[in-house]
Amino acid sequence: THTATRTHTVAFIPGDGIGIEVSAATRRVLAALEAKCGDFHLDIAEKDYGSLRYLRTGAYAPKGWLEDLQQYEAIFFGAVGHPDIEDHISLWQLILPIRQAFQQYVNVRPCRQIEGVQSVVAASSHVDWVILRENTEGEYAGQGGRTHVGTPHEVATEVAVFTRVGVERFLRYAFSVAAQRERKQLTLVTKSNAQRFGLVLWDEVAAAVAKDFPEVHWDKMLVDAMTVRMACKPHTLDTIVATNLHGDILSDLAAGLCGSIGLAPSSSLNPSRERPSLFEPVHGAAFDIMGQDIANPVAALWSACEMLKWLGEEDAAVRLDAAIHESIRRGITTADLGGTCKTSEVTEEICSLLSDA
Ligand code: ATP
Ligand code: MG
Repeated sequence: THTATRTHTVAFIPGDGIGIEVSAATRRVLAALEAKCGDFHLDIAEKDYGSLRYLRTGAYAPKGWLEDLQQYEAIFFGAVGHPDIEDHISLWQLILPIRQAFQQYVNVRPCRQIEGVQSVVAASSHVDWVILRENTEGEYAGQGGRTHVGTPHEVATEVAVFTRVGVERFLRYAFSVAAQRERKQLTLVTKSNAQRFGLVLWDEVAAAVAKDFPEVHWDKMLVDAMTVRMACKPHTLDTIVATNLHGDILSDLAAGLCGSIGLAPSSSLNPSRERPSLFEPVHGAAFDIMGQDIANPVAALWSACEMLKWLGEEDAAVRLDAAIHESIRRGITTADLGGTCKTSEVTEEICSLLSDA
């Protein structure tokens, strides 16, 4: 047996519905991976934040929860949501406070075509995108309100707020990601023909930041035209960079084009590393399929892969990634991918495919 040389602290928030099931699968695989590699240890603390706590106490998390989470190197998140609770409550009580408190200003969503997965776009497109979404400002800044509520004169505003500091730190990170990728190609998505302020600022800041990354080829697309390009000319794209709202929409489109939402991982990063970053599957709590052992665990497992890379455990991440690909190639998949396997069967297969060093 080896002695673990590196320890990382991780807060685990399984959440609700299939979030709990895919989180359990992830813990099982991470434990197997740790045993295989023998040179790192994840010190995991599970947190029971979620809708059941909300229904019991009126709050998704206990007092002092943000100070508690602050101590960890990373946060793994399953999913939250409940059929009896409106989505915006968990969003504004739990998810947005985490992004704000820990300044997780970059959301990263890799999107690849996978051998063995049916996709809408031609296999020859070889889609291998990374979508970077600004995660703390814009349309989700929480600014706006309603006046004359319920009267014919009612006005509701939802103000998108962009700051130069916020846009610049995000675009700088986005260009650095593009610069590290093989194609070194970045597409900036805006709607600056229709919006006179915020997205014009984006265009200006992007032009300035791009000067520091001469090796990156970049272009600009309006978001409407971008949807067509993603669907019809997917091979022309590599690193896709967008605002909070546009990034949300385009990343769902991307996941749909490449296969199942059960495959899509996401990372909310604090690039300074002074506060924890968060890793989670893109999908939600999906109460329609909970409790049946049929949720696809791959989105959660790929999120764990991204977490391992962030923690510097590149070798473990590569092994886990390879095991996931191999299980899909062998057709050991859940129903959303056309397979007949249970969550637990896919999980055990991936554990057994983790290669020896
Ligand atoms: P939320 O409200 O948090 O978005 P949701 O219940 O709407 O959650 P989504 O994640 O948006 O669920 O997923 C939509 C549908 O896709 C689900 O109802 C489910 O049928 C399917 N789905 C989602 N995730 C998975 C998964 N991991 N495996 C298999 N099917 C999934
Ligand atoms: Mg949903």
